[in-house]
Amino acid sequence: MKRALISDIHANLESLEAVLDDIRRQGVSEIYCLGDIVGYGPNPVECVDLVRRHCKVSIMGNHDQGALFDPEGFNAVAEQAIFWTREQLERPCGSSALMGERWDFLGELPTRWEENGQLYVHGSPRNPLSEYVFPDDIYNPRKMEKLFALVPQCCFQGHTHVPGVFTESAEFFSPEDIDYEFPLGQQKLMVNVGSVGQPRDGDPRACYVILEDDRLRFRRVEYPVEKTIQKIYAIPELDNSLGDRLRGGQ
Ligand code: ZN
Repeated sequence: MKRALISDIHANLESLEAVLDDIRRQGVSEIYCLGDIVGYGPNPVECVDLVRRHCKVSIMGNHDQGALFDPEGFNAVAEQAIFWTREQLERPCGSSALMGERWDFLGELPTRWEENGQLYVHGSPRNPLSEYVFPDDIYNPRKMEKLFALVPQCCFQGHTHVPGVFTESAEFFSPEDIDYEFPLGQQKLMVNVGSVGQPRDGDPRACYVILEDDRLRFRRVEYPVEKTIQKIYAIPELDNSLGDRLRGGQ
């Protein structure tokens, strides 16, 4: 079994297409998406269609929920992007039946998925939709204990856009720390799979994880970043900073 875990696509079509190509070349049998298909980026409709077509399991992210319902807790730049995203999804791109299917798909996304000791969420095991688990949280033992108490064997998550592995003994390993590979099965783990469409760990390449029986691997994939940036610049409702940050993976 080889399963790809993708998250935080954020309507970045170029990065999603590059990742799907890479996934195909890795002989992966199924793809799970951990949320935030939309928000920030210029191609929400196309990204929703690709995820619907290719992903076996999809989880609701806070930006997906924001596009569906009234956005809460977002800064002004993110909120404006969410309203623009909603307008795009309300256009009958393709056909009005297709538009309805997109809304139904987003509206029916679960906030968690569990199978075989593996939990899949967008944020955290405690608050699947919106709690952040940052690398620095290893210095907050109370938080980590509470979170790990809710982890069956492994929890896979996104939301921070910072990839890496958290162990129950309060360690955090970035993909570089572990040479992009980590063994599974010996201990409880929380794994942040990183972001396809807006990495924030200083590496602008798209990030995702391949899960195998005994290990996981982080993949970094180059994509035409400048093309996405120019699309963002051309849409007044998407702040230019949303393009600029892609260049350095910030
Ligand atoms: Zn996100």
